[in-house]
Amino acid sequence: APKFFVGGNWKMNGTLASGKELLSTLTSAKLDPNVEVVVAPPALHLLGAQQALQGSNIAVAGQNAYHKASGAFTGEISVSQLQDAKIPWVILGHSERRTLFGESDEAVADKTAAALSHSLRVILCVGETLEERESNKTMDVVVRQLEAVRKQVPEDWSKIVVAYEPVWAIGTGKVATPEQAEEVHAAIYKWAQEKLPKGQAEELRVIYGGSVAGKNCKELASKPSILGFLVGGASLKPEFVDICNAKL
Ligand code: 13P
Repeated sequence: APKFFVGGNWKMNGTLASGKELLSTLTSAKLDPNVEVVVAPPALHLLGAQQALQGSNIAVAGQNAYHKASGAFTGEISVSQLQDAKIPWVILGHSERRTLFGESDEAVADKTAAALSHSLRVILCVGETLEERESNKTMDVVVRQLEAVRKQVPEDWSKIVVAYEPVWAIGTGKVATPEQAEEVHAAIYKWAQEKLPKGQAEELRVIYGGSVAGKNCKELASKPSILGFLVGGASLKPEFVDICNAKL
């Protein structure tokens, strides 16, 4: 079975000092060796974090990247710049990027294809809004988001982790129930069985994000189709260690 995956998305939070302190908490903690842990600090803090994590089993991720290699794109960081800096992972298609910064399914697909072609690993975020859930469109939306990527990445999803993050559960304290999450995760695996080349669904990690906390992580982690977490708020606290150890 693929390795359980826990990502910490710090979003636009923290100072150099608070980030450093958090990383030293993580590097001195006893983390489950069977879990892959990746943290995503703000872009400005990425290289420092990577240095602070040297010799640990924790990797770093960018929170976003632009698909063009270089050029007049003020404010952006390219996938090739992440590759050059030896940043192994990047989060793409986070709902905050989609809703607050207008990233379309196609833009997210462009970024994913470019990231993969620059040897990055991708945490690809998908998920429905409350309105979409209430009108029974959850799977339509999730499949539409996945299909946009599949159109550009038809073959190899082995470097992609899919993060199911229902928008209504992000930063709200309103976590999806383990049953609600499991239902969507199972449907994503079914999609992967049908649409990805043979053998890939079995290796794919579908992780859950949205108000994951120390107190709810074990129950979520006990579900068969939940292979990890993408954590926002709680990834800024020592509690993140407990979430990394959810399977212990
Ligand atoms: P919260 O854990 O703060 O709800 O955020 C989830 C998230 O968006 C992770 O990418």
